[in-house]
Amino acid sequence: MHYVTHLESALDGTRLDHNVPQTLHRDRPLWVRYDLEAIARTVSPDQWKNRPQTLWRYRELLPYRNEADVVSLGENCSPLLACPRLAETFQMDQLWVKDESQLPTGSFKSRGLAMAITMARALGIRRVALPTAGNAGGAAAAYAARAGMECFVFMPEDTPVINQYECVLFGARTFRVNGLINDCGRIVREGQAAMGWFDLSTLKEPYRIEGKKTMGLELAEQMNWELPDVILYPTGGGTGLIGMWKAFQELHALGWLKIPGKFPRMISVQSSGCAPIATAFARGERFATPFPNAQTLASGLRVPVAIGDFMILDAVRASGGQAVAVDERQIRDWMQLAMAREGISLCPETGACLGALKELRSQGAIRADERVVIFNTGAAQKYVEVMHTELRRIDQHQPIDWEGLQG
Ligand SMILES: *Cc1c(COP(=O)(O)O)cnc(C)c1O
Repeated sequence: MHYVTHLESALDGTRLDHNVPQTLHRDRPLWVRYDLEAIARTVSPDQWKNRPQTLWRYRELLPYRNEADVVSLGENCSPLLACPRLAETFQMDQLWVKDESQLPTGSFKSRGLAMAITMARALGIRRVALPTAGNAGGAAAAYAARAGMECFVFMPEDTPVINQYECVLFGARTFRVNGLINDCGRIVREGQAAMGWFDLSTLKEPYRIEGKKTMGLELAEQMNWELPDVILYPTGGGTGLIGMWKAFQELHALGWLKIPGKFPRMISVQSSGCAPIATAFARGERFATPFPNAQTLASGLRVPVAIGDFMILDAVRASGGQAVAVDERQIRDWMQLAMAREGISLCPETGACLGALKELRSQGAIRADERVVIFNTGAAQKYVEVMHTELRRIDQHQPIDWEGLQG
């Protein structure tokens, strides 16, 4: 049983059949649409409460038909961690980190790819390919292995080494490309005719958004159906932000939000090293221009061209939020500070969110009494290159002068 009615072009509203594999319409992404009235009649948040703590608990708002279709590695609900010491750092009352680093493959990419691969397999697809900035490749390789599918991954040659290893170990045919993620995307397109693979690129199929949407559903449920005032989200291709915004709209339509029509301000965070969305936002534009010489150690943010640019910018603007870029040179320090203050394994992408919070607090754009949630999209352990220099801070063991250590 499922409640999908159709797919809909995000650009012009054209309706497309959801019973066959679909990709883009006029080179732009599709929305999955549901019969929300039927869902509201069938289920209530109270019924969700008693289901297992995995993303599949929201099944009425998910696109798959049968339980047997599900390809899963145990996608647990991620904890919403109160961060009093970080809140103090930013001189605010309440700050939470939703810790997605605890999901399979150590990043929130598992939500999207669990759903995309579930749907691909159900629709008869046996071979997939995708370009990746890192974590999407690892997650795709893992879920493809789980589904018994063939997977081809194309990544920039300077992709974090853990992402390279995980793709290979999960059995994907993995290629390093002398170029950026958009160059990898072109190779996937060019290879399609010869290889007959399905293109799993970010937003080029409609179901990854539905998987990422569960971050928003989960957050709403964890906050007892009262959404926070502000969400900071590190943005690359934008599926997470777009998906959460969609989740909030659907919950609103279902009438399940405590304060109807009160949505969080969505803050899309990028690095000064790759900030196409922040740039378009500042210029008042709906479509972004390719960001030249994209370079950031927050590899998940290194997406110079996002096919869903207008979907990100529409959501940010509709929410009364902003798209901001933070100084690339400070990302590592923010990451380190958050890890040391709260013990959360924070990825550099989320480090950028802390820099943005600091900036917006000092501008008064976020008030001290507002309820703020930051998404930690991945685990620090996946970024050995970024962590490496921290080893310089470790003392070599020598006979220790205990008095000196007491200091
Ligand atoms: C992919 C990725 C991002 C960017 O996510 P989008 O939803 O594609 O914008 C942020 N952080 C990490 C760790 C990622 O892997």
